[in-house]
Amino acid sequence: MTRPKTRHTGSLLFEGLVLLAAIWSFGPSPKGKTTEADAFEVNDEHLHLTNYVQEGTNIRDFLNIMGSKVGRAAIFGIPLQQQWAFGNTGNFAPTYYLQTDAPLYYYSFTDAVIAMAYRSLPPDQQARLDPMITGFNPADMYAADHVRRVLTTFPGVFTGIGEFTIHKEFVSAKVAGETASLTNRALDRLLDFAGDVGLIALLHNDIDLPFPKPDQEPYQLVQLRELFLRHPRTTIIWAHIGLGRVVRPVKDQIALIDRALSNPALPNLYVDLSWDETAKYIVASPETVRHTADLINRHPDRFLFGTDEVAPKDQTAYLKTYRLYEPLFAQLTPAASELVRKGNYARLFDAARRKVRAWEKVNIKDTTQ
Ligand SMILES: [Zn+2]
Repeated sequence: MTRPKTRHTGSLLFEGLVLLAAIWSFGPSPKGKTTEADAFEVNDEHLHLTNYVQEGTNIRDFLNIMGSKVGRAAIFGIPLQQQWAFGNTGNFAPTYYLQTDAPLYYYSFTDAVIAMAYRSLPPDQQARLDPMITGFNPADMYAADHVRRVLTTFPGVFTGIGEFTIHKEFVSAKVAGETASLTNRALDRLLDFAGDVGLIALLHNDIDLPFPKPDQEPYQLVQLRELFLRHPRTTIIWAHIGLGRVVRPVKDQIALIDRALSNPALPNLYVDLSWDETAKYIVASPETVRHTADLINRHPDRFLFGTDEVAPKDQTAYLKTYRLYEPLFAQLTPAASELVRKGNYARLFDAARRKVRAWEKVNIKDTTQ
């Protein structure tokens, strides 16, 4: 286990630095002076390094794109591959799920691609990234076994699982095979395993269906709540507060999230403010900004910023969503803003790193890996 040990030392050193950074950033800083830790503006807990046809940004280029703006990022591929079906689109090669009627299928090799890219980096660059396992079918009882296998094959690399999707507008219905569901025991098995290991779970599940009828029951809400309650030991980050391109906020959504985050039975639930499609609802008007800011100021340790960019080409494209949220950040208290942009990421992902490395030490016997 020489390699994991080396990494462990590296990660301890890094955690020490993070602790120092936290002390610096929360401590009094003389007016007008920028401390070293202030230099990074934000951490990104939601970044797809590759797209729906498994092509993407070289990991070294991505670190340059993070530059001096983004301190750390949770990185993953996309679990689904868009099939290029000649019978459907002919010579047109689709790169996005909306460009063809051909199905999507689970592409597990994505995890190996991410792991190998991460391992090609020197320790100081690895310390800025948290790779996530995502190439599993959440409707398969064997999903948890895939995660175990990836951890065993690539020890010292992964911090969480996701982003993986159960209900997503335009996507779920296109996935080949059994449709994923919040009530599937395979998902329970997966989240139980994530809890055992200490892996963070980043889950995409729309809060409602697209274009609901006025009195249509948002049944996913009930199922989602029950799912969160069934897995109190698993840290779950709910992506995009359940919003989508056309999945709009449900009635009283802010009150509903407020209740969920105030529920002592749901200490494991966190919310991700990623995707420009989510930002468009939040910054839609001065009222939506104010109500969202009030909610975050009430629960500052439960929200994380993410970009949800897919294979970004440059820093301007990469930080598009971050810029969209400027009006929101402006209305957060300084402490809440710091937590949402950086502090919550550091706390959750550092804890997960420690737990996963400890699990690997005990559970991976084959030292030839
Ligand atoms: Zn995403």
